Amino acid sequence: MTENRPKMVVLHCSATPDYPEGHKAFDLIGAADIDVWHRQRGWREIGYHYVIRRTGVIEEGDRHWTEYGAHVQGHNIDSLGVCMVGTRWHTKNQVDALLATFGSIWQRFGIHPKDWFGHYEFDKRKTCPGVSMHFVREMLELELERLLQDGPRAATIIKVEREEV
Ligand SMILES: [Zn+2]
Repeated sequence: MTENRPKMVVLHCSATPDYPEGHKAFDLIGAADIDVWHRQRGWREIGYHYVIRRTGVIEEGDRHWTEYGAHVQGHNIDSLGVCMVGTRWHTKNQVDALLATFGSIWQRFGIHPKDWFGHYEFDKRKTCPGVSMHFVREMLELELERLLQDGPRAATIIKVEREEV
């Protein structure tokens, strides 16, 4: 297996309803559901490397370090795909989890905040991930300063094993 050497991150959303935390069904939406939806579209499996649930739980798949993603036209070879569950409004725990995900990717791959993009920046027909990437990049810049001073932040990470099909 070759090692994946991503140079950028592309942020996505799952286009599911923006329920606040505490809504049982929506709290649980995660990589397993997205995997089903992607397979229903005829894809081999979930195309993202990370999924961030409404509760802030981070799901990290094992495709992630050795295989390219399948989430954005033209950049699957050199990017990681991160998907926030929701459409436009993300929970506080999700934002914290996004910052933790940024930190973990920074430490493994050295990907700078300026190399985080939104799906819509590569596909003008899309609004995904539903948030201003200008804002996200500024937030990540501040997080990088914090990270360099105080180190990684705590996060709940579930490692998702891929099922062979
Ligand atoms: Zn997308």
